[in-house]
Amino acid sequence: MKCILGKAYFSDVKDKIKQYPYLDRDLDCDILIIGGGIDGAILNFYLSQKYNVALVDASRFGMSCTSAATALLEYQLDDYAQDLKDFMSEEDIVKVYKMGLESIEMMSEFILKFGNHSHFKKTPSLMYTDSILGMKALKEEHLFRLKHNFKSVLYTEENNPYPFKFKLGLYNEDGGAEVNPYLFTKQMIENAVNQKQMYENTMIDRLTYNNDRFEVITTFDNKIMCNKVILATGFDFSLMNEKDLCERVISYSIVTKEIEGIDWEKSTRIQDYKEPYHYLRVLPDNRLIYGGEDSPYKVETIDNSLAEKKYNKLKNDLIKMFPHLETQIEIDYEFCGVFGSTKNNLGLIGQTENPNIYYFLSAGANGIINAMSGSKLIIDLLEGKENDLEDLFSPLREN
Ligand SMILES: Cc1cc2nc3c(=O)[nH]c(=O)nc-3n(C[C@H](O)[C@H](O)[C@H](O)COP(=O)(O)OP(=O)(O)OC[C@H]3O[C@@H](n4cnc5c(N)ncnc54)[C@H](O)[C@@H]3O)c2cc1C
Repeated sequence: MKCILGKAYFSDVKDKIKQYPYLDRDLDCDILIIGGGIDGAILNFYLSQKYNVALVDASRFGMSCTSAATALLEYQLDDYAQDLKDFMSEEDIVKVYKMGLESIEMMSEFILKFGNHSHFKKTPSLMYTDSILGMKALKEEHLFRLKHNFKSVLYTEENNPYPFKFKLGLYNEDGGAEVNPYLFTKQMIENAVNQKQMYENTMIDRLTYNNDRFEVITTFDNKIMCNKVILATGFDFSLMNEKDLCERVISYSIVTKEIEGIDWEKSTRIQDYKEPYHYLRVLPDNRLIYGGEDSPYKVETIDNSLAEKKYNKLKNDLIKMFPHLETQIEIDYEFCGVFGSTKNNLGLIGQTENPNIYYFLSAGANGIINAMSGSKLIIDLLEGKENDLEDLFSPLREN
């Protein structure tokens, strides 16, 4: 299934992930991870330090949805605490926010150890709105954060420090970060210890389970025998025989050419409170990436002509937001990809009905960082330890 369309900015780099072979023989391992996007790469990095793990991908590592991600990293979920209360207790929401912060710290530690080769940076974030409903929501979220000792500042029209207008802004000084998702995947892949057990261009066709062991068959008819299978196939659910594991949409992005004078925001990720919503970030080479305009994902193809309309709309909206930059806003990249979300905004991470099949699907706006803490969760489950995130992320949960 094709999950991305167009030329993605983040994977358009000279220093690509080194090429790994395709599997051309049968293989035996303890754990097989299927899918080498950012999620599979993160999980493989941590698991391979303890277990005999093999990682396979149908294509090249990191070239699917991972390359399309804007990679705004933060503890905040798609919805605000007030809306999440239908699906989680207040205590659980705080637990999940804290987990987001821990995940960013895990990323920082990794970068500290292996070097910052993926443009990782901690950043503040701003959510802004002009609508009455939006202002109510931002004020409630502000109070929720203060109540639970998270930093939060409200900007109004009077003290707005940004060069574009809004009625109310929710500013979060810490708790956010940004990264090049493709380059981070590269670092995770190339620093994993199981270098000889990673295979690209190796598509899994089917799995069968007999006598507590899996026989996993590739499209070239090679067999992988293993005890446990972890599906990190992103928003491609073909191997699960389940079409609606989460709500899937297509999200669209444009990236401008370099623009002078946008240093004002070098360190902020910005999102509006609209339907459909938009997100903005300044890239390290002084370009703007602007995305959103999500459309429903109905058929298993991405519509080229709809994408063109969405890119034009994004460009026009960007010019409206920054009229003083109109002559400089030229578009260099246009791409879109599949994005998925669940009711409680959390990914599907954990054991399934067959306890030896795990899902590692990081749906949601902060799916990428949650793959960091999600790896710890998987290790705890493998070791039979309790983890208080288990129920919240369980693929068997109702939300
Ligand atoms: C426009 C856009 C903006 C986004 N912005 C953000 C953001 O700001 N922050 C954030 O956290 N997330 C964001 N996301 C979501 C983010 O992209 C995903 O959460 C993330 O990329 C998922 O990574 P993954 O590794 O699970 O999936 P993928 O990158 O799609 O990787 C899955 C891999 O599985 C492989 N695979 C599938 N089936 C098989 C098979 N049968 N056999 C072998 N291999 C198989 C595929 O080849 C693929 O490489 C955004 C998404 C889009 C589209």
